[in-house]
Amino acid sequence: MSKSLQAIRGMNDILPEQTPLWRYFEATVATLLDGYGYRQIRMPIVEATELFKRSIGEVTDIVEKEMYTFDDRNGDSLTLRPEGTASCVRAVLEHGITGGGQVQKLWYNGPMFRHERPQKGRYRQFHQIGVEVFNLAGPDIDAELIVLTWRLWGLLGLRDVVKLELNSLGTSEARGRYRDALVEFLSARLEQLDADSIRRLATNPLRILDSKVAQTQALLNDAPKLADYLDDASLVHFEGLKARLDAAGIPYVINPKLVRGLDYYGKTVFEWVTDQLGAQGTVCAGGRYDVLVEQMGGKPTAGVGFAMGIERLVLLIESLELVPAELARQVDLYCCAFGEPAELAALTLAETLRDRLPGLRLQVNAGAGSFKSQLKKADKSGALFALVLGEDELAQRVIGCKPLRGQGEQQTIAWDALPAHLAANLKQSVE
Ligand code: ATP
Ligand code: MG
Repeated sequence: MSKSLQAIRGMNDILPEQTPLWRYFEATVATLLDGYGYRQIRMPIVEATELFKRSIGEVTDIVEKEMYTFDDRNGDSLTLRPEGTASCVRAVLEHGITGGGQVQKLWYNGPMFRHERPQKGRYRQFHQIGVEVFNLAGPDIDAELIVLTWRLWGLLGLRDVVKLELNSLGTSEARGRYRDALVEFLSARLEQLDADSIRRLATNPLRILDSKVAQTQALLNDAPKLADYLDDASLVHFEGLKARLDAAGIPYVINPKLVRGLDYYGKTVFEWVTDQLGAQGTVCAGGRYDVLVEQMGGKPTAGVGFAMGIERLVLLIESLELVPAELARQVDLYCCAFGEPAELAALTLAETLRDRLPGLRLQVNAGAGSFKSQLKKADKSGALFALVLGEDELAQRVIGCKPLRGQGEQQTIAWDALPAHLAANLKQSVE
């Protein structure tokens, strides 16, 4: 196929073989969030470019080099959203739903766009499920976000392969004091710093902390520590969070170098990481952003949230062979009819079955074929039973019900008795 007709690099089709796992994952998260009282919000995929510059920060990786930005026909600069928090804050402000201290516990699911180097677990269009909470300032809600993700890992069988890393970034004043100390320390040792870090020294020095360069990391071991610069309120908040995680029995490690790539975070930041996905090991990340709403023109409003990368979690579930076995079967029943009169009867019979057995996954064969080839298709569909309707069955108003997964012999069932027969047998086969 000509290259211009292929998908954009780093933007993937999710094929029918993969969608059952995606739907299972998304349904598991949605049910979980319902159980904690979170409500879904859906925002547009495109926003004004200014929104992301103002919220994420001008000198972050995302805004500097990862955004898909274009002028629309009016000449307005628009951007495909690289993340969801900025849009979510814009939406709650625009609709006034956090005014007067009103608590909002929200979640969203959708595609995000970043112009990064595509590799396993890193794409240019990827999908996040994000959660944002407004107007709750205490550590209890930070803990709830972590507790609910921990429950999710339990539901998915991932608890043994993910690790929680925590840090506190303090207030922006505390970070400011720390930034000065860090810059002073590193400026005196420029010759030991990598080029990227030297550039960041002038723009976003805290990001140097998560540099991947070994020599830079070694140098940082002797550098001033953010923890020593934290303000009292942030320290108390952090202790409160740790106490709640201890009480809930959730293991964590403090990572003093965890700073996150976005400017709006303060106080709590956290990441769930795995060592099973190579360099793309962060599957869920978030933190507190108490100044963001005000910075975007609203009243002071506490905020905290996280986002998880669906591709990475799906990869993790696949690589650990944790895909639930029942996802392999998408069809319960496959109906084969032979000859036009039988095909016509099969159509109405199938509709009766759909009426009587809600949720039934029934595929009616399309097109002709020999008995053998039709049964082969029925088998390949994964169905538990094949229904066989030929001229003889039609004349006697019966149908053959053939077990496909070794559950006994073919039986002949009267049409009237079919729904009850199937209800009992499908249930039994699944159990
Ligand atoms: P990373 O350090 O891996 O680049 P990030 O800090 O940029 O991640 P966030 O902006 O915090 O990521 O996004 C939250 C989550 O979304 C990440 O933890 C990850 O699971 C997922 N994610 C981020 N960028 C991508 C991407 N390009 N492709 C796939 N998933 C991604
Ligand atoms: Mg990134």
